[in-house]
Amino acid sequence: MTHNATYECAVCGTTYPADRPIWRCTCGGHLNLSPGPGLVRADINGADASLWRYRTGLALAGPPKVSLGEGWTPLVMREWDGAPVHFKLESQMPTGSFKDRGTAVMLNHLLEVGVGPIHEDSSGNAGSSIATYAAAAGLPCRIYVPATAPRAKIVQIAAAGAEVRAIPGSRQAVTEAALAATGESFYASHNWHPFFIEGTKTLAYELWEQLGFQVPDNILVPTGYGSNILGLDRGFDELARRGEIAHRPRLFAVQAENCAAFAAAWAAGAADYVAFAPQATVADGIATVKPVRTTEVLSALRHSQGGVVAVPEAEIGPALTALGRLGLFVEPTAATAGAALTQLLRAGTIHRGETTIAVLTGHGLKAADKIGELIGRG
Ligand SMILES: [Zn+2]
Repeated sequence: MTHNATYECAVCGTTYPADRPIWRCTCGGHLNLSPGPGLVRADINGADASLWRYRTGLALAGPPKVSLGEGWTPLVMREWDGAPVHFKLESQMPTGSFKDRGTAVMLNHLLEVGVGPIHEDSSGNAGSSIATYAAAAGLPCRIYVPATAPRAKIVQIAAAGAEVRAIPGSRQAVTEAALAATGESFYASHNWHPFFIEGTKTLAYELWEQLGFQVPDNILVPTGYGSNILGLDRGFDELARRGEIAHRPRLFAVQAENCAAFAAAWAAGAADYVAFAPQATVADGIATVKPVRTTEVLSALRHSQGGVVAVPEAEIGPALTALGRLGLFVEPTAATAGAALTQLLRAGTIHRGETTIAVLTGHGLKAADKIGELIGRG
């Protein structure tokens, strides 16, 4: 194991070497990976047009055993409400969502430490990502999804050869079903496993490199569990410790107002989870009732001097349409970033002269039926 990476339980403080397939502490608490060494720009392999150009900064022992060319996604500039905005097209990953960054690194870690059949629960995108990479790795895979998950995502999981278990009820009920199966196969959970965040941190490296080794002022990210917020925090922290950057971007977690765990905690000034009443939202990918790392995400947002933006349901469709007119076809979850941009610009929280990134997390083809209804083509 390179870098002597260790896990630390966020609840009881027990540490474990990161050389075994575990996803939580014996006490039930979640694990966080020790700070990594990061990298300097001379470490980047510019010949590799994928996230593996940053391999020396990852807590993996060797080169990837499985890759579908994930990462190095386009960063395109468009005008939004009169302001220049860089849109990061994570929607153009191999399986159509940002999840591939975390999945690729997590699965390669699991292959290094040894793992057999795996299972996972997901609102759809992580499930299709894990199922696809499991297929590429030759691992048997079972995915628990909400019975209401968009059809395209379920089809994508099935096409990869994974077993699909559709669970009626809430998103939480899906998680409970997956937790109950932990004795049968390894729970390769994108929400629990620390190496998923080790993968999403490459988003920070990539934005920094694509901006000519500059740090943006603001980054807006549609947020359910917060793996991109935690990955960005981790990546920029590493670059700061290596002396590659002098300041940090403000991170804004974008949520659907109808189901906004972080917004509830943020409004209450709380450092941890605050109970709230979740309602249905078209932004199914971020309809998270109980995030695993609430404290860590809130802390990362505060540390960055950013915040949380809650987007009213009625603003998601118009944002999706406006993005479509710019050539950016995204699923409703990703369109919340556009609605949040409008809010932050109008409030004067972000300014036209600043460098602002909106992360578009999932492709429109993931949710064509739902988008049809939103734009009156149902
Ligand atoms: Zn513990």
